[in-house]
Amino acid sequence: MASFTLHGIPVSRGIAIGRAHLLAPAALDVKHYLIAEEQIEAEVQRLQNAIVTVHQELQVIRKGLLPDAPSELGAFLDVHALILSDPMISDLPLNIIRTRHYNAEWALVTQIDELSAQFDEIEDAYLRERKNDIQQVGERVLKVLTGSATALSRLNGVEESTAHVIVVAHDISPADMLQFRDCAFGGFVTDLGGQNSHTAIVARSLDIPAAVGMYNASALIAQDDWIIIDGDAGVVIVDPTPVVLEQYRERQAHLMRERKKLGKLRKTPAVTRDGTEIALLANIELPDDCGAALEAGAVGVGLFRSEFLFMGRTGYANRLPSEDEQFESYRKAVVAMKGRPVTIRTLDIGADKPLDAAEETALNPALGLRAIRYCLAEPQMFLAQLRAILRASAYGPIKLLIPMLAHAFEIDQTLMMVEQAKTQLREAHKKFDPLIPIGAMIEIPAAALTLPMFVKRMDFLSVGTNDLIQYTLAIDRVDHEVAHLYNPLHPAILYLLSSTIAVGAKAGVPVSVCGEMAGDTKLTRLLLGMGLREFSMHPAQLLAVKQEVLNSDIAALMPQMKKIMRTFEPVAIANAVEQLRLM
Ligand code: PEP
Ligand code: MG
Repeated sequence: MASFTLHGIPVSRGIAIGRAHLLAPAALDVKHYLIAEEQIEAEVQRLQNAIVTVHQELQVIRKGLLPDAPSELGAFLDVHALILSDPMISDLPLNIIRTRHYNAEWALVTQIDELSAQFDEIEDAYLRERKNDIQQVGERVLKVLTGSATALSRLNGVEESTAHVIVVAHDISPADMLQFRDCAFGGFVTDLGGQNSHTAIVARSLDIPAAVGMYNASALIAQDDWIIIDGDAGVVIVDPTPVVLEQYRERQAHLMRERKKLGKLRKTPAVTRDGTEIALLANIELPDDCGAALEAGAVGVGLFRSEFLFMGRTGYANRLPSEDEQFESYRKAVVAMKGRPVTIRTLDIGADKPLDAAEETALNPALGLRAIRYCLAEPQMFLAQLRAILRASAYGPIKLLIPMLAHAFEIDQTLMMVEQAKTQLREAHKKFDPLIPIGAMIEIPAAALTLPMFVKRMDFLSVGTNDLIQYTLAIDRVDHEVAHLYNPLHPAILYLLSSTIAVGAKAGVPVSVCGEMAGDTKLTRLLLGMGLREFSMHPAQLLAVKQEVLNSDIAALMPQMKKIMRTFEPVAIANAVEQLRLM
């Protein structure tokens, strides 16, 4: 067969080379038949038993999670357990058996199809992707009903070294991924999924090469085909020629050597060749991620996205985590970091991160009531979060970071609410750090253009380049149709970023970058040249950035930096940034 290449969405770095192992979707070939009246209750029982079995399976997997398993995995298993308990899945198919006399498999598939169709109508990309979770849960139940071999045993049946197995599937559930993890598979390719899909999130946290959103890859790739995943490019090469295979083998070996070397840098201080100290911090989503942050040698947490504590709580008695529950999470993080600072960002909900999957989203969510706008509109909820964060500050150094600020009155109102939370705690005789530093995310162009307003009021600034790029270039960050326009090197972005760093330095207000740009080694020198001294990123990226820092001489970068900042020609900028990397 001739070699061919498929393009998808890159979600996790690295190169994987191996043979394809196809996972057939169980839902496709279930039997459809009508059952007799007297068999109805037995059929209902059969489906109920299967649902109970899957519940138990999920519990077993949950309990068997290794302590170092990414926290997202546990959360996803909980989501699947909740879906399974929902009457839409646990009751309605039983009614279909009773009223329409369908066999159990048919009844279940009918209901899943019905739910999936409803999800397809949803405009919000994040919510739409939750359809996959429902289908994955449905497939697990179907596997039990049909007694088909589980994905795990099929994978165990592969004789070649499991490191050379690349899982190709229409979609992979987080629960299945957990099992594959123990088999040390080399990578995965899925038809479905985008940057926000659970599979993508899990891939990144496991640090496995992956490409998702490949449309019909699982139909085009055959069992045992040789494939290469170029995780950085989101490209899959099927049946590569010997020359291409050899090139990728070399690149892969090189990457592995680099990775091994990087491990040795964990304790090395991040200092440039000309003696400037750089702070490399970690972005975390849940307190359990602190382990990965320390493992990567982070000197603190530069961004704790607290909204992950608030998300996906449908089915909980309390829709929002209580003040005490939040306090425990924040305290856990600050204690885990053993004296290193933890920057907790207040709730950044809305847009692609809705509180509740079932909630109606705004007309234009990215421009709507999100982040600080939402918090100021819900003062009791916001005060509870502020009190929880303040109380945790009695247990170690915490900084408070406020997302999406654009107006002076928003800053002033926020600061007043922090004061109010402090007063409430004093009255309740609860301890907190009275000097807790308060900072602003600079992620709306209006904020980056009015920095004097911020440096006057704030203790520190943190640039959220993900949103700054979204809003400056007017491209929805979750819409793959405009993903090609997402360009961190657009001169407008370089201007806003460098002026923020410069104004902060002049005012003596520390500036960090906590968006994806901070973890991109191709941009490390550019940011150093702009004067950035604090970078916060996913722990998996930290050591590679540290190596780049160690090899950089900031003084030597300056003439080239001047050239970059003077030009407005994209090609010239791209070439000049590439030149920086060679210096
Ligand atoms: C950003 O916008 O760059 C950022 C760090 O925040 P988030 O990605 O959570 O919006
Ligand atoms: Mg943001």
